[in-house]
Amino acid sequence: VSAPSPDTPTATAGASSEDPLAVALVEEVGASHVLTDADLRAPFETDWTRRFSGTARLVVRPADTAEVVAVLRRCHEAGVPVVPQGGNTGLVGGGVPRGGEVVVSLSRLDELGEVDRQASQVTAGAGVSLATLRAHAAEAGLNYPVDFAARDSATVGGMVATNAGGIRVLRYGATRSQVVGIEAVTVDGRVVSRMAGLVKDNAGYDLAALLTGSEGTLAVITRARLRLVPSFGERVVALVAVEDIDAAQRLLAQVRAGAPSLEAAEVFFAEGLALVLRHAGGITPFATDHPVYLLLECAAHRDPTEELADALGEAAEVLDVAVATDGPSRARLWSLRESHTEAINAEGIPIKLDVSLPADAMVTFVERVHTVVAEVAWSARAILFGHLGDGNLHVNVLGADPDGHEVDDAVLRLTVQLGGSISAEHGIGQAKLDWLPLYREATDLELTGSIKQALDPAGLLNPGVLVPRPARAGHRPP
Ligand SMILES: Cc1cc2nc3c(=O)[nH]c(=O)nc-3n(C[C@H](O)[C@H](O)[C@H](O)COP(=O)(O)OP(=O)(O)OC[C@H]3O[C@@H](n4cnc5c(N)ncnc54)[C@H](O)[C@@H]3O)c2cc1C
Repeated sequence: VSAPSPDTPTATAGASSEDPLAVALVEEVGASHVLTDADLRAPFETDWTRRFSGTARLVVRPADTAEVVAVLRRCHEAGVPVVPQGGNTGLVGGGVPRGGEVVVSLSRLDELGEVDRQASQVTAGAGVSLATLRAHAAEAGLNYPVDFAARDSATVGGMVATNAGGIRVLRYGATRSQVVGIEAVTVDGRVVSRMAGLVKDNAGYDLAALLTGSEGTLAVITRARLRLVPSFGERVVALVAVEDIDAAQRLLAQVRAGAPSLEAAEVFFAEGLALVLRHAGGITPFATDHPVYLLLECAAHRDPTEELADALGEAAEVLDVAVATDGPSRARLWSLRESHTEAINAEGIPIKLDVSLPADAMVTFVERVHTVVAEVAWSARAILFGHLGDGNLHVNVLGADPDGHEVDDAVLRLTVQLGGSISAEHGIGQAKLDWLPLYREATDLELTGSIKQALDPAGLLNPGVLVPRPARAGHRPP
């Protein structure tokens, strides 16, 4: 999966601008890394979904922490807001400008330290891609456990800033569970560094945990110290066809209890599979269509196939099953799930909602979500898929006005009514900001505002993302 590439040409940047800020930034990072021409800015101005875009004052590409410091100081002195950007694969419009900001692209901060086998940790620059990080860990015989389909473009800085989840949260937790140290630059250009990688460190507030998931609103992350886990050589993937989401959940509970090697439990539905087969290719292993598919992966040092088979047992829920143990066959089954985002994008501009639900509300949600969408957008259809093991569903609505709010409102209200969260792993960004008061209580939002005020008093870091503006704190969504 490729994002609109932030690694587009650097040699012919538009440093000829009359903009005094551009001139100042050229002094700091060089002319080829200050992009003022519309053509050069364009890949940084529209998000992966094409739902969010805005015009940047300019794009600047610092090379290291010192240059990030210099860039932020200059912007701070000029009172100009900045939008940090990594791989631009975020799905909530958090990394693209709203209008007039400086986009600070961190993709050149791609230094990757040697793997520390003793500590099972590695230090990575904010611009290192997930795929590069995972390959680097694998070379040392270890594994970086966060993984998801945007791996070729998503960066360490973006993953930390969004607390990215993905397909292995079930076993290893999301990004916050992997971050053991962080280096970041404050809005006025001060460096805060906690990179010792101490697993136990209760000497004060956990700034690394605070910045993880802060979506570029509290500081610009420049490096992270990350935990690595053992690399399991033996893997098995099973694609199990079931009748409905209730059956999928029952089966998953049984496998969870019986197979400690379970690493991923994903779900998708017949409508989504049809789109994948149409737009992304691939073949279904089954002779007939089924309503719901549960994809399970187990990993261990010894072949976990028997453990998974025993856990599935003779379960009545299983309508059909395909099992893959070698790499290419496993990848073929996984691509049926991982191609969903791309296949949906190929069909049109989707409204993307990423919700999590308590286990006992999942069935009701899946039953009702199609109705609530149809009530507000009769021509729309909802395609569901996601990380069932984490109670996380991605609701992608096609055929509705991407600029409208009715669909978001209907789905997010249903989620909150059922005790769920309006963002499971993608964050709030611009996309969900209006609905934050629906989910977070007033005191919660006040404290959020206080933290923002303390770290970014002038509101120059990613304004319009994650933190409701003070006047809007009590605002109710449309
Ligand atoms: C096909 C596809 C599949 C995906 N699957 C998943 C999934 O399974 N799980 C999941 O969690 N996400 C998923 N995503 C969403 C996305 O990939 C993640 O949110 C990822 O963490 C974003 O990384 P990025 O480098 O592209 O960040 P960007 O999109 O560039 O930025 C995202 C946010 O982080 C901020 N930011 C970026 N870099 C920094 C930095 N250095 N310092 C401070 N703030 C920064 C930005 O301002 C923005 O608010 C998927 C996306 C796609 C396209």
